[in-house]
Amino acid sequence: MKKILMLGTGGTIACVPSENGLVPALDGKTLVKMVPELAGLCHIDYKQILNLDSSNIAPKHWQIIANALAESYDNYDGFVITHGTDTMAYSAAALSWMIQGCKKPVVFTGAQLPITAEGTDAKANVYNAFLVATSQAQGICLAFGKFVIHGLYAKKMCSESFDGFYSINRQPMATIEDNQFTWNSYEGAGSSGNKFTLNTALEEKVAVVKVTPGLSPDILDYYLDRGYKGIILESFGAGGVPNDENNWLPNLERLIQNGVRVVCATQCTYDGVNLSVYPIGTLAQKLGAESAGTLTIEATLTKLMHDLAK
Ligand code: ASP
Repeated sequence: MKKILMLGTGGTIACVPSENGLVPALDGKTLVKMVPELAGLCHIDYKQILNLDSSNIAPKHWQIIANALAESYDNYDGFVITHGTDTMAYSAAALSWMIQGCKKPVVFTGAQLPITAEGTDAKANVYNAFLVATSQAQGICLAFGKFVIHGLYAKKMCSESFDGFYSINRQPMATIEDNQFTWNSYEGAGSSGNKFTLNTALEEKVAVVKVTPGLSPDILDYYLDRGYKGIILESFGAGGVPNDENNWLPNLERLIQNGVRVVCATQCTYDGVNLSVYPIGTLAQKLGAESAGTLTIEATLTKLMHDLAK
């Protein structure tokens, strides 16, 4: 029988009501007890490493999760990480950069409703996550609703729908319908390389700046003055920055000349960035701005934090 370690971090899945709303309280053992279909599937051990609403998850918590995984990597066949849905895509992406050579499944899951709520999605998600954790999948992924998604390409798209996560700019690893998995790929994030390695270093002075029509580029000076090392410009369409009356290029140049890495991302959910189409992109690129390509904001932010700390 395969041995799976369940790492609990909180989230709605583990919530109970309080006078101020839902708070995470249930541990992994309690969650698994509520999914009797898991009996006989695998041997499960539990470790409660955090108990947070995932809006309170910060880079130091990504490091805690990654370290807990690395400590137990050799002793288990697979891992299930229960996590709040709000920032699960960030945590999965962060681990995806920190970990390489991961040949075992590491499966994030959560739920839109607590496991104790009527009509909850939690039981199906936990069950599916364990099916993935006992499968031949490798590396970091998410099992949620009807998809299994590579750890670098997941995004929370809906605040209520049970199919709240989509796979962005990449086919899902698998789709789940009527309890049947159809696999496109068993390759999750961080699975390449032969030896499991962990590097949890992160530069936290990285910010995402959302470009909106007419916004003054002075905002970039704010970050420069405060010692930021990386800026992601979440701008429009194929990417780039305003360059006429409200000209962002001089402020952008100042950032880059001061050694700040600038990455252009897009507010469009799909298709990614192509800086070579318009002057708004080509001019930014000539100054040294980089492209986020087809990565999500979650993956772009965590990549820059990780790259800058290397
Ligand atoms: N606020 C919750 C969290 O992210 C939402 C959820 O888990 O669905 O922890």
